[in-house]
Amino acid sequence: MTQITCILCPKGCRLKVDEENDYKVTGYSCEKGKAYGRDELMHPVRVVTSTVRAEGGAHRRCPVKTNGSIPRDKMFDAMRLLDGIVLESPVKRGQVVVKDILGTGIDFVATRDL
Ligand code: SF4
Repeated sequence: MTQITCILCPKGCRLKVDEENDYKVTGYSCEKGKAYGRDELMHPVRVVTSTVRAEGGAHRRCPVKTNGSIPRDKMFDAMRLLDGIVLESPVKRGQVVVKDILGTGIDFVATRDL
């Protein structure tokens, strides 16, 4: 049995996930939390945020994030893909910075105009 806190809303329900009983989840207050508890133990995923260097504009860093969730165990390898990337202004919000991160089908995209 593993205890985790649901992070999907401020209520922060304390979930219990029973790995030995088909990942049965208890302690949730809604179906989203039930699915979260099961997914968090079976195949955890995260949205990743970071920044990359930028030149030619008013700011020297551009914030980026994944446009979907990637497996948690690929987070650090995904971040390394951003090393050495330098964006040239103008940059448009939503512009793809790294396509198909590690074969996940998810991209890093800029989250602001520069
Ligand atoms: S289980 Fe539902 S109500 Fe509870 S924290 Fe998660 S999303 Fe919010």
